[in-house]
Amino acid sequence: MGVTNPAASKYQRHSMVLVPLATAGVKIERMVPVFGSYDAPFGHGEVSFTNVRLPVDHIVAGPGRGFEIAQGRLGPGRIHHCMRTLGAAELALELLCRRSLKRVAFGKPLADLGANADVIANARIKLEQARLHILKAAWMLDEVGTKAARSEISQIKIAVPNIALEIIDQAIQIHGGAGVSDDLPLAALFTAIRTLRIADGPDEVHRALIAKLELRKYRPRCDHTA
Ligand SMILES: Cc1cc2nc3c(=O)[nH]c(=O)nc-3n(C[C@H](O)[C@H](O)[C@H](O)COP(=O)(O)OP(=O)(O)OC[C@H]3O[C@@H](n4cnc5c(N)ncnc54)[C@H](O)[C@@H]3O)c2cc1C
Repeated sequence: MGVTNPAASKYQRHSMVLVPLATAGVKIERMVPVFGSYDAPFGHGEVSFTNVRLPVDHIVAGPGRGFEIAQGRLGPGRIHHCMRTLGAAELALELLCRRSLKRVAFGKPLADLGANADVIANARIKLEQARLHILKAAWMLDEVGTKAARSEISQIKIAVPNIALEIIDQAIQIHGGAGVSDDLPLAALFTAIRTLRIADGPDEVHRALIAKLELRKYRPRCDHTA
């Protein structure tokens, strides 16, 4: 995706093109690891494009429609990210609970030690909040469309990965050394979901949009007749 017409209006400046890998001038410089290991299957490619030429019909949808295509995909895509993240957090809580009942330390199961019962209860509360939050955003998307659901979509894009990371972190903690190993899926889940606080827009950018839409309700309307 790139700017193809800087003079066009803000949302019509970009176009998307499909570039076959075999095109002259396309080079995969390297595969970039994430947190030290290759994101399945091979990592993310750093690709350079030098004087690449393409037939006009490789433009997706038409010139100037890049922003529109990206925006159309991002709403459902973010809901999908959040649904998978919720599943990961559910798995983490299940592993946390099983371990806290099985492992006995100082004569008691971990579930009965310290504040571990509170950790479990708080995790369940946050998961249910996250589930309903996602459901509301998905419902809004269906009922009023991507544009009117922008705040809700940004809300879950921040809330769900942060909740999941907290629960996965607690699950890692309760597994002790095993939690940071590759014997369990927890370390891999933590790194995968940590990237979601950046990919598809960093938390800060989504917060800025939520605040802008919230403030819009109270800003005095600009009176163009004055
Ligand atoms: C594993 C992974 C997979 C990805 N997959 C894809 C993909 O499939 N397709 C795709 O298009 N992109 C993908 N990305 C790119 C991703 O969308 C960008 O990395 C992301 O949007 C952040 O852009 P940036 O890296 O240029 O960081 P920057 O824009 O430089 O932001 C860096 C930091 O600056 C701060 N910041 C930025 N803007 C603001 C703001 N407005 N207010 C306050 N603070 C701010 C935030 O802390 C932010 O994390 C992927 C990234 C990762 C890590």
